Amino acid sequence: MYSTIGKVFDLTVEKFPHKEAVYDATKQVRFSYFEWQQEVNKLANAFVEAGVRKGDRISTYLFNTIELATAYFASAKIGAVINPINFRLKEEEVAYILKDAAPKIVLFEKTLESTITEIHQGFSEISFWYVDMETPDYALNYYDQIQDSTSVPIEIDVTDSDPYAIMYTSGTTGRPKGVIHRHRDMIEQSYMCISAKRLTKNDRGLVAAPMFHCAELHCCFLPRVHVGANNVIIHHFEPKQVLQIIEDENITVMFGAPTMWNMILQEKLDHYNISSLRVGLYGAAPMAPVLVKECKERLGIPLIQAYGMTEMGPAITFLEEDEQLIKAGSAGKPGLGHLIRVVKPNETGPSEPNDVLKPYQVGEIIVQGPCMMEGYFNRPEETEKSMYKGWYHSGDLGYFDEDGYLYIADRVDDMVISGGENVYPREVEDVLYEHDGVLDVAVLGEPDEKWGERVIAFVVRKREDLSEQELDKFCKNNNKLAAYKRPRKYIFVESLPRNASGKIQKFLLRKELEQNTNA
Ligand code: ATP
Repeated sequence: MYSTIGKVFDLTVEKFPHKEAVYDATKQVRFSYFEWQQEVNKLANAFVEAGVRKGDRISTYLFNTIELATAYFASAKIGAVINPINFRLKEEEVAYILKDAAPKIVLFEKTLESTITEIHQGFSEISFWYVDMETPDYALNYYDQIQDSTSVPIEIDVTDSDPYAIMYTSGTTGRPKGVIHRHRDMIEQSYMCISAKRLTKNDRGLVAAPMFHCAELHCCFLPRVHVGANNVIIHHFEPKQVLQIIEDENITVMFGAPTMWNMILQEKLDHYNISSLRVGLYGAAPMAPVLVKECKERLGIPLIQAYGMTEMGPAITFLEEDEQLIKAGSAGKPGLGHLIRVVKPNETGPSEPNDVLKPYQVGEIIVQGPCMMEGYFNRPEETEKSMYKGWYHSGDLGYFDEDGYLYIADRVDDMVISGGENVYPREVEDVLYEHDGVLDVAVLGEPDEKWGERVIAFVVRKREDLSEQELDKFCKNNNKLAAYKRPRKYIFVESLPRNASGKIQKFLLRKELEQNTNA
């Protein structure tokens, strides 16, 4: 018998009423589980009072805050569907999601007010709640709404197969898609993550990655509530603050996208005592093996990698602490209850689940598991295509080794075909990361008359004098790259466009290339 997210929360409160549950480091607010439950119940009642009914959506456009954490459980308790929106999105992107998700209420924060002010008129049917003290004219004050609300538990019949969240994908490859997850999907995801990280009630987790992304929300925040551990929330990622909070709050576990770990490594690490950290989790985007090694050596903590996608809740594989060095570069083995296949890609439609490839043959990664989405919101055709024959088709290319470890080659759409040979940009990026003058890199294909496409690299330098010749020589002397994989051009840039989950938005780089070519 499955439970619901609301019940998971109440069960933890029953077990650990007086244990510290959550600390919002920005607002400096701490709640025990019992105190937090009072807040959750108040907000749940306020939502109902405002007309929210089971199945209605509640969107949030908030940084990492206690209000967001509270809204997750309040919404779950009344059977509403939480829809966290990426706080980095701008007017047009937020409007796109609001139009698609059609929420009853949007909770938003002061620092994001200008975006909402710009678009709220187009959404007269939505009630905007403002999470700060100075309320703009068109919005209701969140605190006024909950002030007189009762903390008496609310009785609404919610079941494990009811939708719990609509999480929008990162939009790395196009418009974000709303992924519907049910209560049971997320509880399964939580169990799997508890086991992979060996979480206990004594853990103190740092919420530094964005909570609107399911890597932080479902793999980290929720599992910690599930076991009665503590969540320390910071508003948004800032490497110095992260290091200081790890020291001050005795943080034991933290998730970061590879780019976050890379930024932490650029800090003066000997200024902080981070010895409380027992494990770090990375994922959501590829991380070069050389960076994993550096994290291990300089931060002195074991790392676990998670690979996955919003549609699967997200994690589907884990590379555990003891496997990091012996299987460097791998994404690990399937998480509990997950079945993964690498199949022959089909250029005209979804790949056939039975066209299974042998070890080391690169193909599309498809997966089945207990956390699979119900489908995309308002997109029946795309749902059918991506869940073809009961398998989620990831659009990622990869292969298994002879021991059953999965390796991600790249996204189907990012593969470069040069002179008829397949080049996986990630392989080239991993080599360039080994150069001590390279801070960040993105490799992609550029149209080429002779070869169809040629490999080029956008590079963020650690030092100004790093030249194209030096990088070319480095690649030539490296025994990991065949000649056709070597970048034919290097473009030095100040930074790379990344989305909130740390993925490089290669479509923006392609656009830039096109514009330069046409100019
Ligand atoms: P959209 O579907 O809108 O283009 P998206 O696919 O980026 O967005 P997410 O669900 O956030 O949306 O990202 C999933 C993708 O992230 C995976 O399919 C994979 O390409 C990449 N990814 C996730 N974890 C890892 C990892 N550990 N290593 C390499 N790539 C990863």
